[in-house]
Amino acid sequence: MLVAGFPAGTFQANCYLLAPGPGGPCVVVDPGEGAHAPLDRAMAEHGLTPAAILATHGHPDHVHGAAEAARTYDVPVWIRPEDRPLLRSPWLGLNHELAAGLGDRPWSEPDTVRELGERAGEAGTVLDVAGLRIEALHTPGHTGGSVVFRLVTEEGGQVAITGDTLLPGSAGRTDLPGGDPVALRRSLAMLTAALDDAAVLLPGHGRSTTMGQEKVSNPWLAGAADADGADTAGGVAGASGGAGDAAGDGVGDGAGRPSAPGAARGTAPDGETGERRS
Ligand SMILES: [Zn+2]
Repeated sequence: MLVAGFPAGTFQANCYLLAPGPGGPCVVVDPGEGAHAPLDRAMAEHGLTPAAILATHGHPDHVHGAAEAARTYDVPVWIRPEDRPLLRSPWLGLNHELAAGLGDRPWSEPDTVRELGERAGEAGTVLDVAGLRIEALHTPGHTGGSVVFRLVTEEGGQVAITGDTLLPGSAGRTDLPGGDPVALRRSLAMLTAALDDAAVLLPGHGRSTTMGQEKVSNPWLAGAADADGADTAGGVAGASGGAGDAAGDGVGDGAGRPSAPGAARGTAPDGETGERRS
């Protein structure tokens, strides 16, 4: 599996391309503000053609470029129904300050929108697209329609695109409209059960990581790691009281900090997490 990605825009949201290999169809996840040019470059470099656009959630730093990309490549945009209104009216998901930051920039809804997990109460859905099998796990909390996309590589390894639900050392903020801290805790607990320790996590902001690394260093997962009997003595000590404050600036989360994502401790699929530009 080929995985490429780059941070873009004011909030340095990560956009990812996934494909069975170079020279064929791919999916594009979270083409946000400023993603258009680097996306074109990445696709040209790898000879990729988009078959679909996927949104981990509806915040503008993740979907601002979705309409243009969908129109350019004539492909649909997939998003959970809870966040679909944000494609049309992004300010609905923001506070006053962030909504004001949108300013007068042009905004348009994608021509073709498809909803993940169409049936009410459905926990997720599976997309077979671009030669990939992509599972959308519903992980409400950061927004009502947040999802984590899970894939399995040819070698059997797991890759998860976590959006703003789970970030390196942090988790998505829950103080914006649609946010729900109780739901986020539940979603994070579900993820720790659904993903093995070797799973490569490609977050919405910041560097890539692994579930095993997060279990011992991310205060948001401390409870989950304890429940598994994992040794949490290493990274969680000293984090007491910090978890709730980890969510911070930006539309995203605690990781509005623009650190370029890198390969996840050498375990990224095919070593192809490359193409990190800022
Ligand atoms: Zn967000």
